[in-house]
Amino acid sequence: MARTAEEAVAETAGVAVSGTAAPVVEAERLTLVYDTGDVPVTALQDIDLVIRRGEFVSLIGPSGCGKTTLMRAIADLEQPTAGRLTVHGGTPEQARLDRAYGYVFQAPALYPWRNVLRNVQLPLEIMGMAAAERRERAARSLATVGLEGFERKFPWQLSGGMQQRVSIARALGFEPDLLLMDEPFGALDEITRDNLNVHLLDLWNRTDLTVVFVTHSIPEAVFLSSKIVVMSPRPGRVLEVIDSDLPPQRDLDIRETTGFLRIAHEVRMALREGHSYD
Ligand code: ADP
Ligand code: MG
Repeated sequence: MARTAEEAVAETAGVAVSGTAAPVVEAERLTLVYDTGDVPVTALQDIDLVIRRGEFVSLIGPSGCGKTTLMRAIADLEQPTAGRLTVHGGTPEQARLDRAYGYVFQAPALYPWRNVLRNVQLPLEIMGMAAAERRERAARSLATVGLEGFERKFPWQLSGGMQQRVSIARALGFEPDLLLMDEPFGALDEITRDNLNVHLLDLWNRTDLTVVFVTHSIPEAVFLSSKIVVMSPRPGRVLEVIDSDLPPQRDLDIRETTGFLRIAHEVRMALREGHSYD
């Protein structure tokens, strides 16, 4: 099949990102065993992975394969048992202390008695930022997710999709260059999810954010990602890393193109191989 000029450009851009940009996350034979006091649970085993600046990386795999554990290790919320893990070339602890990442959870976890602006400001308040600056930062990150004008609303006055956008704004408040998102749209209906996917992709295209995104959805992973990491059932290992050659600027219609369907097929095949270990 002949490549279009656009595809050729995207491919070159993709090579540039994956080939030369600085590593943001590097895992080498990363292993994490939960000591449950009963039978130890090996959540991650020998994970080798490099995530470079400006990449949008999705982690996909069956429930329990260690996706959340990997995100939490990057965020310094879990300690690896063996192997090496660096964030921005240093320890995850240093990255946490530097507030180098924002973390978005599956549920928006907003405080109902705080309005939108004050929810977004909360982590900045906790870190002791001056009132004027944190108000300005919060307003700016709300504008980034398209929620200008909603500052005085309370969470219960917003739809689920808008609440999740507030929690993305809250994660952006630190002005991180790494955004960790753990199934952020998993609880939303498909139409809202499509909408937020378009928003997120646009945000990623406008900034030089590096995004690590956990999902169960193959179309979501393929639509958003520059790189898709397919993980195996427990113990979580990396089965395959698929580089996307889709152009970075995408709209939802791309999901009907042969290029999109080919990558989705590759992901599906890799997941299926993983399941054959069962
Ligand atoms: P995923 O996010 O892919 O669904 P998780 O990272 O949450 O997977 O979990 C990976 C494995 O580790 C699962 O088998 C889970 O039961 C186990 N696990 C997760 N957290 C803990 C914990 N705190 N203590 C013991 N086992 C855990
Ligand atoms: Mg999880």
